[in-house]
Parts: sequence; C-alpha cells; structure tokens
Amino acid sequence: VETGRRRLLALIEGARAVLPFTGAGISTECGIPDFRSPGGVWTKNAPIDFRDFVARRAMRDEAWRRRFALEEQFGAAQPGRGHHALASLWRAGRAPAVVTQNIDNLHQASGVAAQDVVELHGNTTYALCLSCAARYEIAWVRERFDATGHAPDCACGGHIKTATVSFGQAMPEAEMRRAEELTLRCDLFLAIGSSLVVWPAAGFPLLAKRNGARLVILNREPTEFDEIADLVVHADIGDVLAPLVSH
Ligand code: NAD
Repeated sequence: VETGRRRLLALIEGARAVLPFTGAGISTECGIPDFRSPGGVWTKNAPIDFRDFVARRAMRDEAWRRRFALEEQFGAAQPGRGHHALASLWRAGRAPAVVTQNIDNLHQASGVAAQDVVELHGNTTYALCLSCAARYEIAWVRERFDATGHAPDCACGGHIKTATVSFGQAMPEAEMRRAEELTLRCDLFLAIGSSLVVWPAAGFPLLAKRNGARLVILNREPTEFDEIADLVVHADIGDVLAPLVSH
C-alpha cells in the first residue's frame, strides 16, 4: 500500500490534468456492494433488460420492487475516503471532472459539482419519464406503488424508470462525448475500483493509454488492463487514497 501510494502521488504531482474514472469498488466501503465480488448484486438477480422493462408491466413492477429493496443502501450511503480524496483533487483544480460508472450520486455528495461528475450509467437516486424526461423522486414512485400495487406511469403516459442505463438501453450521448474529450485531454488516467469489463465504459482507459496518457489502475483484484498500465496498485481504495487529502 505504502509503495503504491508513493508512486501514485509522484505521478499526480507530475501530471498536468488528472482524470479519475471510478467504478463500484470506490463505494463498497459506503455499504453499496459491487456487482462482481462474491455477495455482489448479480449473485442474486439477473439484470432486467431495457426491452423487457418497456415491453411488460410485470417487469417494470419487478424492477421497481428491486429498487425499493435497495433504498436502505442508496438512501443512507455517505461518501467514503476515496470520494473525499477525489473531491479534494477536483477542488484543488488538479482534476477537471470525475468520470464514473457508478449510479449512487456519491461523487456529488462528496462535493464535486454536479456538472463535473460525468455519469456514464446514469443515477439511481431519482427517476425519469422515458418519453418526456420529467423528473420524479423515488419516494413519490414508492408511494404510488404502495397505493396501487403497480409502478406508476408519467402524466404523459410514458413509463417512469430510475435515471440509470440498463442493459439494452442507449448510452447517454452527451456524457459519452464529454468523457471522451476529458480522456483525450488528460495526461494521467486513474481507473479506480472497476473490473473494467463493462463496455463501452472500459474503452476509456484504453483510449487514454493509446493517446499517450499514463494509466494507473487501483483495484483490489487484477483487471483486464493491468498489463498495459504504468502503475497497478492492488489494494484497498480508501487506504491508498485517504492521505491524498492532506497533500
Ligand atoms: P465491478 O463490480 O465489476 O468491479 C468492482 C471492482 O472493485 C472489483 O474488481 C473489486 O475487486 C474492486 N473493489 C471492490 N471494493 C474495493 C475496495 N474497497 N478497494 C479496492 N478495490 C475494490 O464494478 P464496475 O467495474 O463498476 O462495473 C459494474 C457496473 O455496475 C457499473 O457499470 C456500475 O454502473 C454498476 N454498479 C454501480 C454501483 C454503484 O453505483 N456504487 C454498485 C454496483 C454496480
């Protein structure tokens, strides 16, 4: 941990623009399990495909039932040491933004301005109408569900879904473009807490590397891209990043 941290600090100090890119691993210490570790979300339920969500009311009800069951996790979670460290990097002007695959809103909660959190997979702390994009709060959807036994639809007739990107659903264009620009402009790309197997998100560390940036991978387990990285730290994210704040 100590050696990895020292090398990471040296790289950050020598960098012009740092781009943190985060995955579920940065939030596990906040009580939100990742997907692929043992006990992770997918060991319990197969994900619901976007087409099924749109096509069948029973699927929408099931998706919402699962979301309500996670409210204790997402509703109560507070940012962890990794989030705070990245927020201080952002505040210091060393990182222009944070690109994240996470949907838990914890980078915003740690103080990074919402416009500088680039959410590739959306956000599960609120909901949107799939037709008119009206915003709904989770608590409101839950009240309607409890009263009627079904997920409510929007006043416009569209279906209401958490503001996340499901399998089979299009990636958000503006966020993908912004993430690409940030990736091409950084000279140090920090992949933190991601198994780097979910595409197209996993393309960003690769693009950074091809574009000449240094690539650091901080993750407890080995990842797909360890062999092309300039520095690989297999350790706990909070342990490695916490001292960054004082720097
Ligand atoms: P992943 O589950 O595939 O990989 C997470 C990685 O983090 C694992 O390799 C694990 O070893 C590592 N890790 C876990 N805790 C760690 C710690 N404390 N220190 C160091 N490493 C740690 O997650 P992913 O790559 O982000 O892809 C999963 C997809 O699931 C993402 O697209 C994301 O949208 C979604 N997801 C999000 C959340 C969230 O918002 N917090 C949680 C679960 C899944």
